[in-house]
Amino acid sequence: MEWTPELNDTGRELWQQGMSAREIGGKIGRTKNSVISRAQRSDWGARRPHKAKPKPAKPKPAKCLPKLPKPALASASPKLPETKMPFLEATAENCKFILGDRSPWMVCGATVKPQLPYCAFHCRICYGRSWNASPRA
Ligand SMILES: [Zn+2]
Repeated sequence: MEWTPELNDTGRELWQQGMSAREIGGKIGRTKNSVISRAQRSDWGARRPHKAKPKPAKPKPAKCLPKLPKPALASASPKLPETKMPFLEATAENCKFILGDRSPWMVCGATVKPQLPYCAFHCRICYGRSWNASPRA
């Protein structure tokens, strides 16, 4: 059976009203698949969405952790040391922060914080802004 222009118009109208393909097929004597196929080939456009019941508002998930005040930053930001030395010459008291990404490997070489591998400036880079500049106990 062919899709006459009248059938096509009726089907498109029902389609655009949001009627299901099965219901349209029942009204115009076609199968559900025939209606869907026609809708796609003839570009019947988007169907009006079914009137969905408004969903109950989802409760907001409880926050896992209370907001903590940000730790106070160290009063004075450490400055970039103006030292530079070859990696192999650095001792335990020299900052081992590698400068650059090519050989010859150079390190910062500034005096390290006690029990740390870096100077205050590079500790802050490696351990974050909230890092406390005071030495570890
Ligand atoms: Zn350093």
